[in-house]
Amino acid sequence: MSASILSSVRGFVFDLDGCVWNGNTLNPGARETLAALDRAGRGLAFVSNNSRATGGELRERLHGLGVDVARHVLTPLEILGEVIRERFGPSRVLVIGSPDMAAVIARAGHELVDVKDYRAATVVAVGNDFDLSYERVTNAARAAARGAPLVTPNVDPRMPIEGGDFLPGSGATVAAIATAAGVRPIVVGKPEPPLFRMALERMALSPAAAAMVGDSVPSDIRGARAVGMVTVLYAPEEGTPAGEADLVVGSFAELARLAGVG
Ligand SMILES: [Mg+2]
Repeated sequence: MSASILSSVRGFVFDLDGCVWNGNTLNPGARETLAALDRAGRGLAFVSNNSRATGGELRERLHGLGVDVARHVLTPLEILGEVIRERFGPSRVLVIGSPDMAAVIARAGHELVDVKDYRAATVVAVGNDFDLSYERVTNAARAAARGAPLVTPNVDPRMPIEGGDFLPGSGATVAAIATAAGVRPIVVGKPEPPLFRMALERMALSPAAAAMVGDSVPSDIRGARAVGMVTVLYAPEEGTPAGEADLVVGSFAELARLAGVG
């Protein structure tokens, strides 16, 4: 595929961690390229699999780093309620997760079901739950076994913490509940389609009119390819082959050039 494909792409979805930023530092040229794309009228959206932050929190972080063109910033947590509404309509949701997760689901117009009333649940949403108990796992599994779809922001096995240690991630909890229920979870985060689809919807673009730019082949490139987007691997290491991606760029300056704005 020729490089010029990017000059006709009408919108870009950017991965955050390892692409737009590393930790609390923007990657070189990111601010300038994003501003140039915005000035040229290209759509911009940002996605992160971080399921402990809302899009609003990450947007604030981007603004704090001088990226003032970030309007659509999506995380699995942010869109969980929307995905449930699109797939299943207004639902009665049993939440096994943080108070933040329950709040975003309620804000999307769903009714929250107490864990004791699991028989009334029409959807089970599972994330990181620091009050996890055998009763909560049991009742969530029973609700899912009775036919309530099991939805989760991500199936990360671990949450890394300081000092190289970890806590079990939502994937560990989902696995317990899904195994007991005998069902497969619906995953909202990358590489599954919902996060990409929602970003395209926010920019009002079809998949073929937009490019996904990210540093992870399994998560960004495979996921975006599966929904039909153009894919750009961000690989600062010199000589990285494009592999499964349509294109590889070594810098934001190169991306700007290929997109016809630099
Ligand atoms: Mg990344």
